Amino acid sequence: MHRSLALAPLSLVAALGLALAPQQGQAPGYTDTPLLPGGEWHVHDSRRPSPVAVQSFGCGKAPSDAIVLFDGSEASLFAWQSDGGAAKWKIEQGALVAGGGNLSTRGAWGDCQLHVEWAAPTPPQSDSQGRGNSGVFFGFGRYEVQVLDSYNNKTYADGSAASVYGQYPPLVNVALAPGQWQTYDIVWTAPRFDAEGKLASKARLTVLHNGVVVQNNVELTGPTGWVGRVPYPTHPERMPIAFQDHGNPVRYRNVWVRELGNPRQKEFMLPDAVLDSYAGEYNKGKFTRLPDGLLSIDLGGVDTVLHAGSPTRFYALTTDVQVEFDAEKKLALVTVGDDFSRAMQWEKK
Ligand code: MG
Repeated sequence: MHRSLALAPLSLVAALGLALAPQQGQAPGYTDTPLLPGGEWHVHDSRRPSPVAVQSFGCGKAPSDAIVLFDGSEASLFAWQSDGGAAKWKIEQGALVAGGGNLSTRGAWGDCQLHVEWAAPTPPQSDSQGRGNSGVFFGFGRYEVQVLDSYNNKTYADGSAASVYGQYPPLVNVALAPGQWQTYDIVWTAPRFDAEGKLASKARLTVLHNGVVVQNNVELTGPTGWVGRVPYPTHPERMPIAFQDHGNPVRYRNVWVRELGNPRQKEFMLPDAVLDSYAGEYNKGKFTRLPDGLLSIDLGGVDTVLHAGSPTRFYALTTDVQVEFDAEKKLALVTVGDDFSRAMQWEKK
């Protein structure tokens, strides 16, 4: 019935006095329409959960479900780190100013929407890649959306503002004059790796520069880089977001992020000193440092990768293992399964 009605001209539906709206008291929609790919929901499925209400506050303000990474305050600097320690970038008039090495988030992000506002230095100095160069990195410095003063500044196309550096020039040049605030709204899809560490799907980027689409879901060939191409290295799906210090005092403000995809436990990239304090031989096994802020635990001869879920707690993605570290007491509480009362206490040698 519904299927044939769906194919009938609207005029016929109206003439017969039929309404496509659901009967009173029922959730709007249908349950006998064709199944959508994935096999979970029908077309217009009345049981499908409604989108969560999110309030947008307009220009310059983060929507209600965003995590604000920088709002101009000194307090928001705690979301960032430099070389595993305190953030070295300075705040001037509510804006972060590039200087002191790359600046990366303490939190790690997989698929997400990132909003960034930036301004190139004025008056402009130098030219090409030397003018107002910075960058927005995903994957902890691996994948760069170029920040550059591209206003009357000739450079190679795939190094322009809003290029995926070394891979994709922006579709158009929307650059504003140096000193003016510009926006990037970026949709990042992290690359995926299978259990053996082989590439399962490539990274993707969509970028709006000052509200104009300049990258349309492009597929990255690998990490971005200068005068070269690098294959995808295996890394966690979630990694810090970072801003590049390229020696030019580019400013940033109003930085916020919205997690996309399936939210799960938060992940963090901890400073090297903290990771070193956890790694080592314990009386019941050992923890080993891995690249990208990860640890591994040797459980009965099987190495399992652990991700940081807080400054002290780690968890495995592949098994139900959690570890709570207490570096001062040189202890690790190792839990397999949900029963925390049965945590094994490991003492560091
Ligand atoms: Mg750059």
